Amino acid sequence: MANTTKTIGILGGGQLGMMLAKAALQLGHTCVFLEDAPHAPASLYGQVYSSEQLDEFIKASDVFSLEFENTPIATAKLLATQKGGIFPPPIALTVAQDRLREKALFNELGITTVPYRAIHSLDELNQACDELGLPLVLKTSRGGYDGKGQFVIHTQSDIATAWHELGKATTEGAMPAPLIAEGFIDFEREVSLIAVRGQDGSIGYYPLVQNTHTNGILIKTVAPAPDVEHLTKSAQENIAKILEKLDYVGVLTLELFVTKAGLIANEIAPRVHNSGHWSIEGANTSQFENHIRAVLDLPLGDTSIVKPSVMLNVIGTYPDESRLLAIDGVHYHHYHKSERDGRKIGHITVMGDKVAEAEAVLDER
Ligand code: AMP
Repeated sequence: MANTTKTIGILGGGQLGMMLAKAALQLGHTCVFLEDAPHAPASLYGQVYSSEQLDEFIKASDVFSLEFENTPIATAKLLATQKGGIFPPPIALTVAQDRLREKALFNELGITTVPYRAIHSLDELNQACDELGLPLVLKTSRGGYDGKGQFVIHTQSDIATAWHELGKATTEGAMPAPLIAEGFIDFEREVSLIAVRGQDGSIGYYPLVQNTHTNGILIKTVAPAPDVEHLTKSAQENIAKILEKLDYVGVLTLELFVTKAGLIANEIAPRVHNSGHWSIEGANTSQFENHIRAVLDLPLGDTSIVKPSVMLNVIGTYPDESRLLAIDGVHYHHYHKSERDGRKIGHITVMGDKVAEAEAVLDER
């Protein structure tokens, strides 16, 4: 029986969309994108529609998904009623866009989080500092990414500055949102778990990976994370609870802190994730292909690791391509984005003893 080519309409057109489209193309399917930014990386792999062209985008698609979680919920809800619907479901966006809802869901499911408080005023912030103790991390409950919209309060004298920096988010704008004050976790390391859930409810888990951030931006992922045998079961149980509660379909990422007392859930990303890029070369089925399989109701692929891998993000400026590609076994992914401080513009996946060499080439920039 001949298979029909499907078109997946994706909300967002960044590098995640680009890599989803590559995976879809390999399986004989195509993607189109809803994206307002010019020169979107995904435009190299499929038609890009602006938000004004929503009708055309819907017409061109058989089913919908997303690569950007700060997409308007109203759009996701509309797409849930069109064609084959949207995967993951809009409720996953509602939760992921709001740190307070997200933490409440974790706690409802018995998943440990940092102690936290919702903050609507300077008085409440002072009270949270008394109750939770310092240091404390103040964050916007909505709209933050890559460490933006965060302030670490170390001493009493930082409280007013932190409120001045972030407090306006609670009082300005059409939809004022509270801040969230979180107890500062002196974690040993950060790990993430990526899982995929199919339309039949089956779940595949990638191995736990270890992540290093600088200024809130991911710079390195080690797959698999070392010494996590004792943590894997509880991490998988936690993500399974979230997937089932949300009746989730597709790839979901759970970011966790490792502490002496065990795992603490930080946040979810309802999409393919930077800490899963190693899976393109390092796993039997990449996170991108598995997401496409789930959205198209195809059998999920094997998530197990083929080769221990390290993923290094290319941030700000591009490396010397010739020096990089001279290293055996380097897999270089260029995102076709212009250079800008702090911007993710590519990544490298490298195996075995070549990691230090690849890092040295990145350090030369
Ligand atoms: P987030 O946007 O919540 O993922 O935060 C970005 C990064 O800030 C995390 O990956 C951590 O490195 C750090 N961070 C966030 N929340 C906390 C916390 N409550 N305690 C200590 N570090 C944190």
